Amino acid sequence: MDSQDKSDMQPEFLRRQYEFTAHIRDPDRQPAPADVDARRMALYRELFYNNVAGFMANSFPVLHEILNEAHWHALMRDYFARHISHTPLFPEMPPICRTCQMPAVLPRPDINEIRLNIDSAGQRHAFCSEACQHIFRQAPERHCGMTWWEVNDNVELWRYIVDAGLLRSDGKTLMGQPHLRTDEASLWTIDDIRRTGVVIKDPLKTIPAEAFVAI
Ligand SMILES: [Zn+2]
Repeated sequence: MDSQDKSDMQPEFLRRQYEFTAHIRDPDRQPAPADVDARRMALYRELFYNNVAGFMANSFPVLHEILNEAHWHALMRDYFARHISHTPLFPEMPPICRTCQMPAVLPRPDINEIRLNIDSAGQRHAFCSEACQHIFRQAPERHCGMTWWEVNDNVELWRYIVDAGLLRSDGKTLMGQPHLRTDEASLWTIDDIRRTGVVIKDPLKTIPAEAFVAI
């Protein structure tokens, strides 16, 4: 998409790079560069996709295990084609649906456009699906509970982990580990989290006001 908007202003080599990478990211919708051998292009497509999908499978082993192959690959394809990364870290998380209180990436990986509304009192709401948005509109007063983000907005992550009782009995090792290694030296502790400096931020607050539709 970007490659076409900018194509007039860009030097030729940049235009070609965009064309090349756009096809690798989204081969179903972006044509392959005309002058690259199809066999080589297929190799690139496979290498890049497998690299990212492998990285994600290692990072989210449980999700990878519980989703069936088709669902997992649909999720990876969608991420690979449409996600614009601004940082190699993962500071951004999806908003939580006001109605079902699940992360607003449901109901399907290929239909996950988050619905954003603002009510007459100025409160922002995200919905995971048309169904949840509809349920909310029927009786907003029944779904006025705070989301996890709203409850924990601006809390330091290490403090949240301590307060939520997510440490092991030694008072310092995390119960939830980001990997499956069990040797003592590899286990993450609360000090590791403290050093990251991560503060919980409600993602709804950073979305520009014009993205919200009045209800
Ligand atoms: Zn929902």
